[in-house]
This record gives sequence, C-alpha cells and structure tokens, in this order.
Amino acid sequence: MSELEQAFHDLVIANRILAHQSVVDAYGHVSMRHPTNPERFLLSRSRSPELVEERDIMEFTLDGKVVGDDRRPPYLERFIHGGIYEARPDVNGVVHSHAEETLPFGISETPLKAVIHVASSIGATVPVWDISEKFGDNTNLLVVNQEQGRDLAKRIAQGRVALMRGHGFAAAGATIQDVVRLSVYLPVNARVMSAAMSMGKFKPLASGELESRGHFNPKAPESFRAWEYWARRAGVGHLLGAMP
Ligand SMILES: [Zn+2]
Repeated sequence: MSELEQAFHDLVIANRILAHQSVVDAYGHVSMRHPTNPERFLLSRSRSPELVEERDIMEFTLDGKVVGDDRRPPYLERFIHGGIYEARPDVNGVVHSHAEETLPFGISETPLKAVIHVASSIGATVPVWDISEKFGDNTNLLVVNQEQGRDLAKRIAQGRVALMRGHGFAAAGATIQDVVRLSVYLPVNARVMSAAMSMGKFKPLASGELESRGHFNPKAPESFRAWEYWARRAGVGHLLGAMP
C-alpha cells in the first residue's frame, strides 16, 4: 500500500475514532498533512466524522483553497487546519472539536490544567483563544478565513492545543495518531478536573511529572495499541496498516 493510500485510511480511522469516542458529533473535524506534499493537507468534505469514507477526502492548500476542480462543499472552518499547518512544520495532524466538557474552561476564569497522566501532553495549562480579542463582538465565533486561522495558531504557539472561547478546541500533533490520542483524553481530563473542583481543592500534575511524560513517541508500539483498540471498537479495524 502506498503512503498516500495509508494516509487516506488513517484519516478515515481518525474520523471514526473521534466520533465513536464522542469527541466530535455532527460537527468537528480532523485533518492530516499530505504525506508527500507538506504544502497541502487532507480533510473530508463537509460531512459528519462518523460517516466519513475515503471518497469524501479532499485536498487543500495551506490557505484553505480546494486543490483541483473538486466542487464538493468543504467545511467552513478548514482555516483552523491550514493556519496551524502553516505556522507549525512539525505538525502533521489537527483536530477541531466542540467537546462539551472543555467549554466551561473557555468561558470562565478557571484555567484547564493537566490533572491525569494520559492527558499530560496538553501541557501545564491550556491557553484560551477568544475570537473577539482581534475580530470583535460580531463574528459567528467560527473560524472562517485564513486570518482567523493564523490568529488561533498563534495562541497555540509551540503548544499542542488551545480552547476556543464559547466554541470548542483546536489540537495539533506530530502524527494523526498523536493528535487523536490527545483529543480523546482532553475532554476526559476536563471532566475529571470539573468533578474534582466540585469536591474542593485538587492537585494538577507537577511540572516534573509533565516533563517525564513529555517524551511520548507517537510511532512506538504502545501508541499503536490505543490506535488499534479505538479503531476496532469504531468498526474500522480493517483499515489499520501493519503494526509497527
Ligand atoms: Zn467549530
């Protein structure tokens, strides 16, 4: 199987995992950088992730323009993906989600912190991007142009994820497996932190603990373990490539 064929399979798997794990619903999306052309990325046409198939995948330039004469409607918020790929050559997978558990931390004074070991890759504190800071109070909160995508990418900076005020989150990973894993555990982390806060004080991960977990290798066999497990549960185990 060619690198591109496996990329299409992986992108379908990522869509199905995120839907099955309730990270995305009718809305939300996941993309990957084109495996042989870093100036392009792959993303489904405007379709709910649970329904995405290989033939839905479209190709875009980093400024969100459709490649070729593909006339199918793309996602309005594709600029989230292009903005991040443009700013971060180390990023090869991007997820955008409206996961409810993360929303309180985007609209309150309480910062979302890493509190469980599986979410250590989110960093000590997740920054919040508020679209109104630069684009005023009259947007529809969606990221609908490259300027907004670039501004969001700036808030992520060299990190992995930013919350989007009143909207959701955008996450970046070295591989598509890496960003899917982070996106599965980010809402879990938010849920655990909210539950702990209702009990009183809580203890986030210490900086040394974040550091010692910071060397997650997305290509390691233990990373494939979660990817394979989630893919099989989501009904797309037949699309998995060779085990590393
Ligand atoms: Zn959105």
